[in-house]
Formats: sequence, C-alpha cells, structure tokens
Amino acid sequence: MFSLEEIVEKICEHTGMSQKKVMQLIDEKEDELSGLVSREGAAYIVARELGISLLKESKKQLKVKSLTEGLNSVDIVARVVRIYEPREFQKDDRKGSVMNLILGDETGMVRLSLWNDEIENVAELGMKEGDVVKISRGYVKMDNRGNLDLRIGKGRIEKVEEEVKLPELKGMEKDFGVVRRKPLSEAKDGETIETRACLVQLFRKNPFFEVCPTCGVRMKNRTGKWVCDQHGEVKPDYHVVISGVLDDGYGNIRVVFFRELAEKLFGKNAAELRAFAQERVDPLAIYEASDVLGKDYIIKGRVRKNELTENLEMIANSIEEPDVKREFDMLMKEIS
Ligand SMILES: [Zn+2]
Repeated sequence: MFSLEEIVEKICEHTGMSQKKVMQLIDEKEDELSGLVSREGAAYIVARELGISLLKESKKQLKVKSLTEGLNSVDIVARVVRIYEPREFQKDDRKGSVMNLILGDETGMVRLSLWNDEIENVAELGMKEGDVVKISRGYVKMDNRGNLDLRIGKGRIEKVEEEVKLPELKGMEKDFGVVRRKPLSEAKDGETIETRACLVQLFRKNPFFEVCPTCGVRMKNRTGKWVCDQHGEVKPDYHVVISGVLDDGYGNIRVVFFRELAEKLFGKNAAELRAFAQERVDPLAIYEASDVLGKDYIIKGRVRKNELTENLEMIANSIEEPDVKREFDMLMKEIS
C-alpha cells in the first residue's frame, strides 16, 4: 500500500497537477463519500479516476528478460552495453534523429531507442558504455523485424551513481555474444570481433573436403576409398572451405570460411561448386569464376592463433555485404 504522500506524488507526476490541486480533489472525494473511506482510500479513488494504476506502479523493477511487446510503465535498471551514433532521418516534411543504445542485465539485452529531444537530454547526462541507467515508466514496442524496442516516451531516464548489482560490461558481452567492431590491427587471440574489410587475397587450394554423410566427420582416403572411422566405406558428402586475407586499412588477417560461409561467399552451394569444378576437371576453377576479390564485407568471426604459423587468423561465422540502403529503409519503416 502507498502512503497518502506517495499517492499524491504519483498523481502529480502523471498529470502534472500541483500538489495543492491534487489535495483539493482528494478532499472533495472524501466529502463526496462522506466518511465511507479513509483519506488514503479517497486518494486511491482519485488516482484511479485519473487513469493512474497504482497497482502497476507498485510492481518491482523488471528484468530485461521479462520485457514484452505492449508493456507500459516499465521500470528497469540496466547497464549501458553499447551506445550507437545518432542518425538523422527525413520522412516527407518531418526531420528528426534517432539513436540506439543497448541495455543489459543478468537476464539479457534490449535495445533502447531515443528520439529527437531525448537524444540531447541523454547526452547531457554524459552517458558512456558501462554506466548504469534507470528508466521509469518507459514502454515496449516491437519493431518490424520482431525485435523489442524499449522507449522512454513520457517516462524518464536517469544515470544511477550508486553501486548496483549488475554484471560487468565484459561479462555481459561474453554471455550474450556481443560482437564489437574493431580495427584488425587490434584483434586479439580468443576474441570474436566484427570487421568491415576488403578480401584482398584468396589462397588457391583445393576447396573441397570429404565428410561422412552420416556423422559429418572428415573422411580418410584409404587406398583410393573414402572411409569414415565409425561408418566405414561410404560415399562422401562434400564440404567447402575457402581461405584468404582480409584488410581493413589498419591491418590484415588470414580468414577462413567454412561450409555455409564459403557457400555464401561464392553464392553457390557445395554441390553446385563441385559440379562446376568437375566440369572443368579442376577444383581451382571456382576461384577463376568468382568475383569476390577486392570486395568489402562485414565479417564477424573468432580470432585465434594458428598453431603452426603462430599468426592470428579469423574463423568467420557471419558474412554480409555492407548495405547502407537496407539500414536506412529499416529506419524509415520504423518511423512511418
Ligand atoms: Zn561417419
């Protein structure tokens, strides 16, 4: 239960009425019900008549995992995991800007989008990655790609200076697989990074390897026959592996694309690539037919030290072509 003071404060907060005005309404309600309810009771009724749900207000702070579409009056304390640059948009005669932050706690991560004036207000708080913020009375929307979007609207955001029990930034990034874009010159053994880089070289090696169709393990060639240790002599499936060198202008790194990623890079599946190579009786023919050299890609991958060469290499786990238009279109859809 709330005290009378707390109820009055909530009504002021929600309606912008003065405390005096709210007290007056409560007095009137008390008179109206001529002693049937306590003063607190009258205050509850006034709040309800003004559309303020004190039950909702009294709920405790939410965790990221419990955010769902359509949720209103969201109170949450979370750590700022990432701050993106604000972007300008123009739609018909409307101009504006939007800025995304990623917030996280021990249960997950969510995007917070700030619009127009909200961006300046937050900038004034001097927010940086790793800070803890409290959002009061925010709401949750679903964007057109099915991602939840936390918004402030008529609520508020503030920086929390006192110590709060939340996982540290590094731990959260690791737990939730956040991948940070960084220059290749700063890539370190064991980390997963994103790079926008140019594929400057391909190693022209046989890209096909034989795997067991049942267990997927690489097969061995025994006197001209393909054998799986577990499943014996079977007709192999073929997988593709492509390797090369990426350069982002700061540094370069050897990169390896396995299976689906190699297929995506070359725009053909393994069977098509193999058919192409067989037709030309040359497994290296697929390199001649590809136009990937000299192109820019956005690649995420795990950096590791090659045990033989002692050099760093990247095992790609996603590859995309940079697509400015798509990101722009997504933004436009969201604000329409
Ligand atoms: Zn097998």
